[in-house]
Order: sequence, then C-alpha cells, then structure tokens
Amino acid sequence: MTPPSDPAALDAADPLAEHRDAFVRDPAVLYLCGNSLGPLPVATRDRMASMVGVEWGQSLVRGWNSHDWIGLPHRVGDIIAGLVGAEAGEVIVADSTSANLYKLAVAAMQARPDRKVVLSEPGDFPTDLYMLEGAVRTLGGDRRLELRDADAIEAALTEDVAVLVLCHVHYKTAAVRDMARLTKAAHAVGALVIWDLSHSAGVIEVDLNGCGADLAVGCGYKYLNGGPGAPGFLFVARRHQEALVSPLSGWMGHAAPFAFVDDYRPAPGVARFACGTPPILSLSALEGGVALSAAAGAPAIAAKARALGDLFIDRIGALAGDALELISPAEAQARGGHVAFRHPDAYAIVQALMARGVVGDFRDPDVMRFGLSPLPLSYAEVARAADLLVEVVTSRAYVDPAYQVRAKVT
Ligand SMILES: *Cc1c(COP(=O)(O)O)cnc(C)c1O
Repeated sequence: MTPPSDPAALDAADPLAEHRDAFVRDPAVLYLCGNSLGPLPVATRDRMASMVGVEWGQSLVRGWNSHDWIGLPHRVGDIIAGLVGAEAGEVIVADSTSANLYKLAVAAMQARPDRKVVLSEPGDFPTDLYMLEGAVRTLGGDRRLELRDADAIEAALTEDVAVLVLCHVHYKTAAVRDMARLTKAAHAVGALVIWDLSHSAGVIEVDLNGCGADLAVGCGYKYLNGGPGAPGFLFVARRHQEALVSPLSGWMGHAAPFAFVDDYRPAPGVARFACGTPPILSLSALEGGVALSAAAGAPAIAAKARALGDLFIDRIGALAGDALELISPAEAQARGGHVAFRHPDAYAIVQALMARGVVGDFRDPDVMRFGLSPLPLSYAEVARAADLLVEVVTSRAYVDPAYQVRAKVT
C-alpha cells in the first residue's frame, strides 16, 4: 500500500488536480504565498483584458446597466456567501477588510449602547486592532478596547462587552478559533461577535449561520485569489440587517442612491454597508477568483488544505522539533491553510528559499509562513518546497550575508 505521504499518489487521487490549470503558473517557482496574495487565474487575465477594452473602453458609463456593474458587489457577495456558510443577501463586497471591520464594529457598539467594552486578542493582525482602537475613539465616552489571550477570552466575556472581535484563523500561527463555541459564549452574555475570515474564507470550512454568527469580514486577495488590493467582503446575519446602521453612510448604501435626496436613509439588507462607488475592475477580478473556489467546492478545498499541511509538516519531519519550531497546530482540524515555523534566522531562510524558487513569507521578528493554497498547488510541489526548506536549514545555506539584506516590503 502507498503511504499517505507519497505526493505522487496524493496527486493521482486529488479530485481538485484539474483546477491547477486554472492558474497562471511559472514552472520555476513554488508559490507558497497564496495566503498573502493568491495567484492569477487564467480566466481573470482574459477577463481583465475585456473589462478594460470592451466594458470600460466601449460601453463607458452605460456599463453600469448594460454589464450590471451596479449589481457586482452583491453578485460576488452571493458567491462568497456560499463559501462561508451564509445565505445570498447576507454578504456584500465593499471597501477593504480594514474599513469593513470599522463599519461593523461601530454599528455593533451602537447596537449595544450601554456596554463599554470591545474585546479582542493581542498579537492578532495589526490592522484589526488599529481599526478597533479607532472605532472606540470615534464613539468616545468610556468605551475601551480590552485584549485577552485566546485562552482567557471566555472568562473576559462579561455583561459589559458590546462586541467580541476575533480572527477565525490566526495570521501567524494558523490556529483556528472555535467559532461555534465562542459565538455561543458571547451570546450568553448578550454580546455580538465579529469574525475576521481573512485567513479562513476559501481555504477551510466556515459555517457562519451554522455557528449562529452575527457579523464577519474577510479579505479578497488571499485564498479567494481576487488580485492585489482586491476589495474585502462583509457579512451581516439576516436577523441583524434592519437594526444595524453603517457609520460610513455613503450614497451606495442609501435606500435610493439615484434619487439624489439630501437626507440619508439606509438601504434595506446588507446593501446599507456599502459606502462609495465600487471598484469595478478589482471586483470583476475578484469574481473570477471566487468563481473558481465555488466551482471546486468549499469541502473539497478544506480537505485538500488539511492534507497539504499534513504532508508539509510530515516532510519537514524531525527537523520541525529541532532547528525549526512549528508554531502551527500539528493537528489538521485545528489548523488553517498555512504552516508557520519560528527560527532566529527566519528572514535569511526565507531569502535563501526565494533564491531556490520557493516563495514563502517572513513575519517579524522570527516567523516564516508557508501558504498551502489548495487550488493552485500540487502535493508534489508542496513536498518539493518542504525538501528545499530542510536542505536550506540543515546545510545552513541561509548564513550567506546576501540573504540578510532586508527589502522594504517583506
Ligand atoms: C489580510 C488581513 C487583513 C487585510 O486588511 P486590508 O484592509 O485589506 O489591508 C485584515 N485582517 C486580517 C486578519 C488579515 O489577515
């Protein structure tokens, strides 16, 4: 019998194998950074050409109707909804993840006006904490942001908590937070929860409605392969849609944006969380990315993500407990779509890998992350990348001074 860690056998049995051809690939590169910027789908490259040449170039302003640009934020939102356990009409694509978090955090606090605390986790993705600081500052009074380690979150849920904000998958360690359990615990004290799905949408199972989730935000350019700076998305559970109001009350969230009246009236449904004119070129690129995920199906994608992670960790073998400290959960069910290690020379190791065609990423001060995006990657590629990592570490190739020079964006 073939061992489960034989990459050729895994590729031969991979139900998603054909989806790899949907991406533009460079045979000289092993791209393990799809958790930061997903690769380019072939269809998106072609779509961009026609978006610019035909839809913009020829249709001009008529495109808002003739190509239904105006419906694009909802159309793409509905596809994303299917990937994260939401219903059509509960997700809209708009703005950035940062801006969406701000809108939902302020709206949630305003829906719990007697409660002073926004609760979150220290060490989580910086923009989330910065935006929450800003949201608290906007509303003022004695509102405050309180940060508690993951294992102390439940104990910190008191009647003074208006909203709990957590990342479903941690951006460094890939640890998965228990969405069902933490949502239930927050609801037990009357708090709302905002989940950040940036590192889970499009890679592991997300069941927002199954978990009774209230609100969520997520990123379009990571596992959803929407392209650099793709707009983010937000989810508002149907039961909350009429009660919550966006603090960024732009005309695209107005009940009648083209009536051009002076007073703001929020649109019904999730549409009220739109703000300004949607970025149509970026949105149509994102549509191509999410369409691929929808065609592959969230369960198959999640299963492959777990298997790729297991293979990668297995292949690193004994080195993971020795020179490299595995900071991601070893157990696949508890892990998102990337695998992270700590090493004092993490930066130089990532550079040495880059010189060998492996694109991973480094996070200050000593973490290296390897994104194992299920659609574009094969098991053989992931095994090869793991072997190169082992080689670089055991041979100490990273000691070369050329690998120590820091780039501006790492
Ligand atoms: C990637 C990511 C973001 C990105 O926010 P932008 O507004 O798109 O820059 C936000 N939060 C988390 C947790 C992320 O991983």
